[in-house]
Amino acid sequence: MSQAWRATTPYDLNGKAPRIVAAQSTGAETQDWVSRYADDVIAESERRAPGKPVVVASGLSPSGPIHLGNLREVMTPHLVADEIRRRGYTVRHLISWDDYDRYRKVPNGVPGTDASWAEHIGKPLTAVPAPAGSAYPNWAEHFKAAMVAALADLGVEFDGISQTAQYTAGVYREQILHAMRHRGDIDAILDQYRTKKDPAKQQKQQKPQDEAELEAAEGSGAASEDDGSGGTGGYYPYKPFCGQCGKDLTTVTSYDDDTTELSYTCTLDGFTETVLLSEFNRGKLVWKVDWPMRWAFEGVIFEPSGVDHSSPGSSFQVGGQIVDRVFGGKQPIGPMYAFVGISGMAKMSSSKGGVPTPGDALRIMEPQILRWLYARRRPNQSFKIAFDQEIQRLYDEWDKLGAKVADGTVLPADAAAYRRAVGTAAGDLPRTERPLAYRTLAAAADVTAGDEKQVQRILSELDPEHPVTDLATVRPRLDKAEAWISTYVPAESRTIVRTEPDAEALAGLDDASRASIALLLDGLDDHWSLDGLTHLVYGVPKVQAGFPADATAKELPPEIKAAQRSFFALLYHLLVGRDTGPRLPTLLLAVGADRVRALLAG
Ligand SMILES: [Zn+2]
Repeated sequence: MSQAWRATTPYDLNGKAPRIVAAQSTGAETQDWVSRYADDVIAESERRAPGKPVVVASGLSPSGPIHLGNLREVMTPHLVADEIRRRGYTVRHLISWDDYDRYRKVPNGVPGTDASWAEHIGKPLTAVPAPAGSAYPNWAEHFKAAMVAALADLGVEFDGISQTAQYTAGVYREQILHAMRHRGDIDAILDQYRTKKDPAKQQKQQKPQDEAELEAAEGSGAASEDDGSGGTGGYYPYKPFCGQCGKDLTTVTSYDDDTTELSYTCTLDGFTETVLLSEFNRGKLVWKVDWPMRWAFEGVIFEPSGVDHSSPGSSFQVGGQIVDRVFGGKQPIGPMYAFVGISGMAKMSSSKGGVPTPGDALRIMEPQILRWLYARRRPNQSFKIAFDQEIQRLYDEWDKLGAKVADGTVLPADAAAYRRAVGTAAGDLPRTERPLAYRTLAAAADVTAGDEKQVQRILSELDPEHPVTDLATVRPRLDKAEAWISTYVPAESRTIVRTEPDAEALAGLDDASRASIALLLDGLDDHWSLDGLTHLVYGVPKVQAGFPADATAKELPPEIKAAQRSFFALLYHLLVGRDTGPRLPTLLLAVGADRVRALLAG
């Protein structure tokens, strides 16, 4: 925060001077949210752990497909960590895989699973079999792998920590014994909130998970699972997994601080066992104690969480007291992030089993776009990720921003978001060499149903002076647009070019319509490019009304707009049998000159 450390820690320590010095030199008004958090996190890290790497953290539960909404849990600290790295500091971004959490329910619509997986509810996620056909050894690893792949595409550098590995290796032994010795203190802290809410509400304040899961948890009878309360033999912040059934439906019945002798009973099968907690590794601290323990253990300076953590008694708030009074650590800087919604999934959800994953998003958009969505909004702003037509507008906006960056007219805050989207401290992400408009690529894929030869032909005709001669130059953006068209555009919205002319409609045309089509067909050869056809289709109604083809809107009566609209509707009808479709110039190119003539001339 102070000028002092800034002076001694210039932005260009990592050898990326030009890009980064520009960011530094721009003054306070260019400070975006990422930069401001980076200031705070660096200052706090210097205060708490001078000279040590800066630690930021995320937690993810691989309890099923990790949803796109949960990506904010990772992207928020990632962007801050990346800014700190750009300033030359060493940063550790921990992703805690909460794979030692209990399996709560069988998610709907996961291929290779069925209702029989319910028999594993209560076991650690790493003790549940993977879906049938999976290449991974267990449930948690299966879903973790998809997220790891998406994070690699997104350029997110992290240090993954399996909580199963940590707990079962006894890494947290001292912390567990310490928490048990101070169970009275923990109980007293938790007790401040217990009477203030019913158990269902209390359950809502678990770590961020999807809503469906939270609802399921409410009905699971595990209402006290998150804080360990409820046993008749006193309060214990530790829960063993049963030695017989492997589930966490256990109650600790006694504990001796001196010998660390712990006895528990399984409420499911009645199994009882007495173990030495100084040697025993098959259990874990309850969530509300586990989280603050790890803040202290890892020295976490920054860890965001979902908005449902902001209320009194929430695990973040209670964790702050527990880390301070029990573990002698400090709560991280922890912004609450708002919900990230999805648009255009309603039609897909029933068939695909619900909400999309980051991998689904990356099949239809380049990593840069997804990074940009997170970078340009403050964490407390909610936004939607488009799987519907809106994705085309989003891409237009992104390309416009790129053009402004290129010509130097970009606003500083927009430039910051752009820079965070296109690369990290490690360098720029791979990009599409020739980023043609997404909507053009989508239209080409739509009209040709993905036929590569036809796509190649259309793209080579867009700009005859600079034809696309190799599809590799327009990939991966082309692949994303093709995937979007084939996966998320419903059949009734797809464009199907007529195979035969609409003879009836052609015969019924009035003279003016006939004349407008003749004008269009006359001009095709001279205007066969994206720009040329744009000029032509807008120009025909102008010429028909007695104006020059290049007359501007100011020089034209308002009726021209209506004439253009009805001309376009006529062309759509004759070409694709509907009133709308991809933008006409793209559609004409996609259909091809010969076929356009055949369909319009009859
Ligand atoms: Zn049992």
